Amino acid sequence: MTNSSPSPARAHPLQATPPAHMPLVLIIEDEEPIRRFLRATLEANHYRVKEAGTAREGTLLTMTAYPDVILLDLALPDGDGLNVTRAIRKEARTPIVVLSARGQESDKVAALDAGADDYLTKPFGVGELLARLRVALRHATSATGRGASGGSELPPYECTAGGRTLRVDLAARLVFVTDQATEPESPVPREVRLTPMEFKLLAFLVKHAGKVLTHQMILKEVWGPQHASDLQYLRVYAGELRKKLEVDPAQPRFIVTEPGVGYRLAEGRSTPTYPA
Ligand code: CA
Repeated sequence: MTNSSPSPARAHPLQATPPAHMPLVLIIEDEEPIRRFLRATLEANHYRVKEAGTAREGTLLTMTAYPDVILLDLALPDGDGLNVTRAIRKEARTPIVVLSARGQESDKVAALDAGADDYLTKPFGVGELLARLRVALRHATSATGRGASGGSELPPYECTAGGRTLRVDLAARLVFVTDQATEPESPVPREVRLTPMEFKLLAFLVKHAGKVLTHQMILKEVWGPQHASDLQYLRVYAGELRKKLEVDPAQPRFIVTEPGVGYRLAEGRSTPTYPA
C-alpha cells in the first residue's frame, strides 16, 4: 500500500507555484472585535493583513510595511483619522478607505478632502467591504501608470442596472443607453446628447467610477476652485444628467447620491473597444 505517499499529480513541482501577489491590507482600528472580523474576512478572500490599534502605530506601519491599501478608523484613542490621513499623504499615495460611524458625515468628508479614497459606514457588509477594496486597489494601479497611458485612453465605461445599460466612451465623447426591458428582441443603443458641462461632469465621474467623490472635489474639478462651494451648480447638473441617463431619475442607479458626502458612479466594467 502506498497511501502515505502523495499522488503523482500533487507531487509535480509545477503544482507548487506560489499564489499570485496577495494585496496587503493594513487595518488601523482600536476596536478589537472589528479588527478580528476584518482579518477573518480579508484572509478568507486572499488578502494579507497587518493590524494597528493606534494612530501612531498605524502611521509607523504604513511607512515600514508598505501596505497596498489601508482601512482607517476615524476615531482612534490617540488621534483622529483625519490627522492620520494627512500624515500618510505627506509620504505615500497608498489608498485609504475610512471606517466611520453614522453621524460622522463631516469627519468623513474632511478625511476624503484630505486625501482618503473612500469610506465604509459601520456596520458594513462583507460584499461592500470587498467592493471598496477592489475599487481602491484598481484606482491605485491606474494612478501609477500601469495600464492605460492617460485618462483619455480609458476603455469605454459600461454599466447595467435596472434593465438599462449605460455606455460612455470618453475618447470618442459618445454616450449611449440601451434598454433591455422595452426591446427584448434586439436592444438598440440610443445616443444621448449632453451639453459640454454635462459631459465634463460625467467624464469626471467615469474616471473615478465606483469611488465616492465629495461635492467639493467635483466642483473644483468640473467648475474650478473658485466654485468649490457652489453646491447648487452640482445639484442642477447632476439632476439634468440623471434625467438623460437614468430609467427613473428619482431612483438613480448610475449616479448614486452619498448622503451628506457627494456622489458615486456605479462601478462599471471596462469593455474592450472591439469584441474579443
Ligand atoms: Ca474607534
